[in-house]
Amino acid sequence: MIYKDDQELIKSYLTDTSNIQDGHTPGVYFPETVGDVSELLEKCASSGKRLVIAGNGTGTTGGRIPFGDYVMTMEKLNRIKEPVQCGEKSAIMTVEAGALLEDIQRTAKQSGWLYPPDPTEKLCFIGSTIANNSSGARSYKYGSTRNHIERITVVLSSGEILDIPRGRHLAGKDGLFSLNLPLAGNMVFAKPDYSLPLTSKHNAGYFSQPGMDLIDLFIGSEGTLGVIVDADLKLVPFPEKIISCLVYFHSMKDLFSFVEQAKIKSGGVDPRALEFFDRNSLEFLRAAYPEIPAVTSGAVFFEQEVTSINEESALESWFSLMESSNAMLDDSWVALDVNEQRALRAFRHQLPVQVNEWLNAQSESKISTDMAVPDGSFVELFKFYRDTCEKNGFRYIIFGHIGNAHVHLNILPSNHDEFLRAKALYKDFIAKVLELGGTLSAEHGIGKLKAEYLASMFGDKGISEMARIKKTFDPDLILNIGNLIPEPYFTISDQP
Ligand SMILES: Cc1cc2nc3c(=O)[nH]c(=O)nc-3n(C[C@H](O)[C@H](O)[C@H](O)COP(=O)(O)OP(=O)(O)OC[C@H]3O[C@@H](n4cnc5c(N)ncnc54)[C@H](O)[C@@H]3O)c2cc1C
Repeated sequence: MIYKDDQELIKSYLTDTSNIQDGHTPGVYFPETVGDVSELLEKCASSGKRLVIAGNGTGTTGGRIPFGDYVMTMEKLNRIKEPVQCGEKSAIMTVEAGALLEDIQRTAKQSGWLYPPDPTEKLCFIGSTIANNSSGARSYKYGSTRNHIERITVVLSSGEILDIPRGRHLAGKDGLFSLNLPLAGNMVFAKPDYSLPLTSKHNAGYFSQPGMDLIDLFIGSEGTLGVIVDADLKLVPFPEKIISCLVYFHSMKDLFSFVEQAKIKSGGVDPRALEFFDRNSLEFLRAAYPEIPAVTSGAVFFEQEVTSINEESALESWFSLMESSNAMLDDSWVALDVNEQRALRAFRHQLPVQVNEWLNAQSESKISTDMAVPDGSFVELFKFYRDTCEKNGFRYIIFGHIGNAHVHLNILPSNHDEFLRAKALYKDFIAKVLELGGTLSAEHGIGKLKAEYLASMFGDKGISEMARIKKTFDPDLILNIGNLIPEPYFTISDQP
């Protein structure tokens, strides 16, 4: 197996898009087979060497950044098999963890299938998207990555290789999992003992649900329980046609009413994506897109899958909804063909990209939220974000997945004093979200950046539950330490 320790050659493994600057590692391992991964972990466990798993570094939470630990990159495990049809409307595609999401989506499309999960950034590895239960604009219709994974292979920290097809290992009525593994022998343990928020998206900490499937414990565990080395993805037929549109509004009241009506799905309206841009986000994009109307409060991007039979009636329903919601019809952009749709999606992608580019040129990091609330509380949260930022004179943007009551607030500090004030306010935002029954992370996960805040959502007891599960699968504590669970909890949970 290749190992590199020339610091110049491995410096790209010390970052992701979180802007955390001070990562460091003695060296990087490049396994090429599942056997390599297993052998490396076994050696690390017996020598107490810690490993951080590296995907492609597009994560936003510092999850892959090492602080003195060794790095294992998944980039050489990147094989993609052709889809195999397994029902009239479904197919399975087997992929290795280091395959790029955009290559997977292209391969699926070539044989008429769609892999629905679509985090806005396509240059991520599929294994990371499973480890982070990633989601994107289409998750409004299709749900997060979890819904599209039929099987995974995981290498545990002991080196043991565990095949987990959906449906094989379920928690019993008593909440207990019972596994019989070739190396570890009998393992009996309880599912995490806490309940999850009633948001339509949630991605903070280990999954838990009565009768849950073991595969769902690993999906979203951010590489803390094992290394995902390959997976069977569930595909759906590629939609015949899509309509998409960017609709501008003069007033936020009209914009909110449009979204609410679209979610009711009356007439032919049936969105697969509902995305939001506030006025400041549009200002941010104006340099690249001068055609953005000069006076607007915000915009909604929507997509809907249609057929040649219902395309016209769906368009009519959307236009009538736009009209009744006082949308800026003459300024809105409708994309009917593939090129126009690609351009609209590029517009959506440009915002986080431009924010990250802008930040790279700044000395301060942004303060960003990834929280969601139950549908009925969204407007209250939006106003809280906006009014708090205005009161403090911050530069900020609010954008994202309004269909799931999940928008990102990014505060862009211009100096260190503003950064410290915004960081202090982050706790107020969390408190508000939790008061409204929301979640600390709806899609980006917790990583290292947000681990210190997880207890505000789950309490010490909840984090101790996560520490218990972590130690069940990684008793020597060698994998992705610092992600999700603050280290002191590993000792707290030892106490009687
Ligand atoms: C412009 C932009 C837009 C984005 N939009 C979205 C979005 O809409 N939705 C969304 O969910 N995310 C989004 N993201 C975040 C990011 O793309 C996802 O979190 C993605 O899953 C990270 O993939 P990666 O390969 O870059 O992982 P990395 O950043 O390298 O790693 C992420 C984490 O996964 C762990 N990991 C990696 N591989 C494995 C493995 N095989 N087994 C176990 N653990 C592993 C790592 O240790 C780390 O903790 C966006 C990022 C950017 C830059």
